[in-house]
Amino acid sequence: AEALAMAESLRGAIASGYLLGGQGVDVTASIGVVLCGQRIDDADEVMKQVDLALYRAKAAGRNAAWIFDPALQADLLQRAALVRDLRAALHEEQFVLHYQPVVGLDRRTLGVEALVRWPHPQGGFVPPSTFIPVAESHALIVELGDWVLSAACRQLVEWAADPVKSAWTIAVNVSAVQLRESAFVAKVEAALRSTGARPDRLRLEITESMLHDDLEQTIAKMHALRAVGVRFALDDFGTGYSSLSYLKRLPLDQLKIDRAFVSNVDCEANDAAIARTILALASILDIHVVAEGVETEGQWGFLVEHGCRAFQGYLFSRPAPAAHL
Ligand code: C2E
Ligand code: MG
Ligand code: MG
Repeated sequence: AEALAMAESLRGAIASGYLLGGQGVDVTASIGVVLCGQRIDDADEVMKQVDLALYRAKAAGRNAAWIFDPALQADLLQRAALVRDLRAALHEEQFVLHYQPVVGLDRRTLGVEALVRWPHPQGGFVPPSTFIPVAESHALIVELGDWVLSAACRQLVEWAADPVKSAWTIAVNVSAVQLRESAFVAKVEAALRSTGARPDRLRLEITESMLHDDLEQTIAKMHALRAVGVRFALDDFGTGYSSLSYLKRLPLDQLKIDRAFVSNVDCEANDAAIARTILALASILDIHVVAEGVETEGQWGFLVEHGCRAFQGYLFSRPAPAAHL
C-alpha cells in the first residue's frame, strides 16, 4: 500500500502539468512497481518483473501505476503460448469458417456472415474473441485474414452452382490491420479473380474503430473496391463513436446494429430508443440495417415494427459449418 501511495503521488505530481515556453503541457506517466523484500538475489529478474508491471500499466490505458504480481507473469506466458499455437495453426491450416444466416422479413436466408473458428488440437474451439486480438497485436491477422477471404470466395463459387444459395452474399469481417495494408485492395481483387467469385456477392464488414487513423485512405480503398462491385457493412454500430459524418462519407450499404442494443430492445427504454434512432437514420440515408444477435420473438417483433428488414441471431440460426446450412 505504501509503494502504491508513493507511485500515485509521483504520478499525480507529474500529471499536474507544466508550462513550457508559456504553453501548458500535459504529461502523464505509467509506473511499474515490484516489491522485493529484504534482499535482491537476481537484479535482472526484478527488472523484468517491473517491466511487466509497467507494460500492464500502459495496457490499462497509461497514466496509472501497477504492482507486479505472479499471475501477471502467468498471463503473459499464456499469451506467448497462444501466439506460438496461432502461428502453427496458420501453417497447418487448422482454421475453419462457420456461417451464420442473415434473414429477411419472411425469415428466408439473404446471405451469411463468415465467422472464423479455431478447433484447438488440445481440445475445444478457441473463441475468436480470444485469438483475434492476439493475432491483431502480432500482425498474424493479415495472414489469417487472407485465408478467411479466399476461403469465403471459394465458398461463394461453390454456392454459385446451387439454385438456392447462388444469390447469397458472404460477409467477411476485416480487421483494422488488414485495411491499413497498402496491398489491401489488390489482395481482395486477387482473391476474387483467382477463385472466380462474383464481387457483388462479397461484403466486407468494418468497424468504426478502424476509422480513427487515415480516414481518407480508408475511404479511397472502399471506393476502389466498390467500383468492382464489393459492398461494405459497418459492424457493431452504436458501440463506438457512431459519428454521423462517417455515415455520410463512407460508401456503406449496410449498418449492423450491435447485439448490445438488440438484446434489450423490448425491455430497456434507452436501448429501444437507440435501435429506433439507428433505423430511422439509416432509412433517411438509404442504408440497409441488419439487427445482430436477435434471440427472442419479442426482439424480432419490436425490430419489425420499427422498420428493420434484415436480422441475424440465434432465433434463426447459430453459426454453422457450410454443410449444415
Ligand atoms: P461480429 O462480427 O459482431 O460477429 C457476431 C458475433 O455474434 C459472432 O460471435 C456470433 O456468433 C455472435 N452471435 C450471433 N448471433 C447471436 C445471438 O443471437 N446471440 C449471441 N449471444 N451471440 C450471437 P463470434 O463468432 O464469437 O465472433 C466474435 C467476433 O470475432 C466477431 O464479431 C468479429 O468481430 C470477430 N471475428 C470473427 N471472425 C472473424 C474473422 O474472420 N476476421 C476478423 N477480423 N474478425 C472475426
Ligand atoms: Mg461481423
Ligand atoms: Mg457485430
